[in-house]
Amino acid sequence: MRKKEVSALLIGRFQPFHLGHLEVVKAIAKECDRLIVGIGSAQLSHTFENPFTAGERHLMISRALTDEGLHNFFLVPIVDINRYAVWVAHVSSLVPPFDAVYSNNPLTRRLFIEAGYEVRMAPMFNRDEYSGSEVRRRIVEGGKWEMLVPRGVVETIHEVKGDERLQEIMKDNAPEATI
Ligand code: ATP
Ligand code: MG
Repeated sequence: MRKKEVSALLIGRFQPFHLGHLEVVKAIAKECDRLIVGIGSAQLSHTFENPFTAGERHLMISRALTDEGLHNFFLVPIVDINRYAVWVAHVSSLVPPFDAVYSNNPLTRRLFIEAGYEVRMAPMFNRDEYSGSEVRRRIVEGGKWEMLVPRGVVETIHEVKGDERLQEIMKDNAPEATI
């Protein structure tokens, strides 16, 4: 019989996946056998808050984890349903079974606790710099952002011309997701 593996779920938008996220993943890997990453707001892309598609985020995260020597992971895009009361059921229906959820987000924590899941705190690493908003701000302002994200993320953003995309989005001052 297959040995029981302890699975952890980490949910975020990962716009983009940065070194703070990677540190959390490494901390989780010390405690759990398998990591499930829920790529939240999967339907959103091409806005300042959410510039990258779910597929692009899938690619950047899988490269970053593989480069770190991590292989026992599942990446699952999760579209918003905008109904918090049934959000945990929605997530659970999409991801493989999991034993614990790692999150610092108060609403995420509350919803999973109410649903009876074990919720653990994810430690914060250098939050002043390691934040999606800070990476996006630097990209838009033409600053140095590459040292804030894993190499596989830099490669992915360059490949899809994500930096140009973000700068254009801000130039046009495009409203959020109006299509
Ligand atoms: P944004 O600024 O776009 O909200 P973010 O950096 O907060 O981006 P998210 O995708 O919103 O990234 O967060 C996913 C999860 O990662 C959240 O639970 C968040 O608390 C955690 N997280 C974000 N930054 C760090 C960090 N520097 N160290 C540890 N955990 C982090
Ligand atoms: Mg956030």
